[in-house]
Amino acid sequence: MHENVIVYFQGSYVRLEDAKLPVLTHALHYGTGVFEGIRGYWSEREKEIYLVRPEDHYARWKANCRILGIEPAPSPAELTAITGELIRRNRFETDIYVRPLAYMSSPRIGVRPDGKSSFAIVAVPFGVYLPSEGGIHAGVVSWRRLEDTAIPCRAKICGAYVNSVLATMEAHAHGYDEAILLNEDGHVAEGATCNIFLVRNGQLLTPPPSDNVLEGITRACVMELARRQLKMDVAERGIDRSELYVAEEVFFTGTAVEIAPIVRIDHRQVGNGSVGRVTERLRHLYHQATRGMMPAYAHWLSIPRPLAPQVWVRR
Ligand code: PMP
Repeated sequence: MHENVIVYFQGSYVRLEDAKLPVLTHALHYGTGVFEGIRGYWSEREKEIYLVRPEDHYARWKANCRILGIEPAPSPAELTAITGELIRRNRFETDIYVRPLAYMSSPRIGVRPDGKSSFAIVAVPFGVYLPSEGGIHAGVVSWRRLEDTAIPCRAKICGAYVNSVLATMEAHAHGYDEAILLNEDGHVAEGATCNIFLVRNGQLLTPPPSDNVLEGITRACVMELARRQLKMDVAERGIDRSELYVAEEVFFTGTAVEIAPIVRIDHRQVGNGSVGRVTERLRHLYHQATRGMMPAYAHWLSIPRPLAPQVWVRR
């Protein structure tokens, strides 16, 4: 899998199979890494890859790395340039997914951090993550979303994704396409790897970050598109589980899932059981905006440029 891919690892561009870590690496044992996920869409017309809000992703990554005290030195602009160089070296002519990972790197036993960390950036060809064209079936699982007082969900902390993995295992065992997690208060939090939105009485609703959700960048895009393009009222507020059953429309958002309509929840039909009108319109707008077809949102996109040499010196 992913043969001949070049990755950015320990300050150099190397082949993926050469980017190896010792088995005692702190992050492997204790989950002490922070990752990101960025999409790049190939434009056949422009023969370019558009990265979607890379500097926002890198700014979030750097901020969240501070929670673990492992912030990578390059600025979001420099990290975007490194990613551009990675894309150039890989000669991708397809949609891609970029996975930055910062991690505590000491190869020794013991929880206490010793200040050593490193980071890698991997980019691979990537298509549809969650097939959702006609809508998916989601289910509320028995695992609760992690509390900010245990492991903060606003950061993509490696160890926190055990929560998402357990939720996904249960959802799949029950025949659902994706999990919905409630937080400890019983409010709807998010999917295993995506934020959630509801349409109720024409209003677009999503849980606030204080309900233990990732502050999703797709979530921010969707709120902006709904307000600016659809002139909708958008609110971040606590959402009860039962509201999922009475909502007109429900959908997930995320870099990987994009906009995934949910047409069944816990074996109950959502709305009329087909993809809702608001969801359909937002999906279309998001698709157009992220593929460079809406000039008003061109600022979301970044075309990778070859790298100035001073940016990729070993740090
Ligand atoms: N929630 C979780 C738990 C996620 O892992 C993701 C994916 N990054 C999201 C929400 C969506 O965030 P974004 O739109 O920034 O990809």
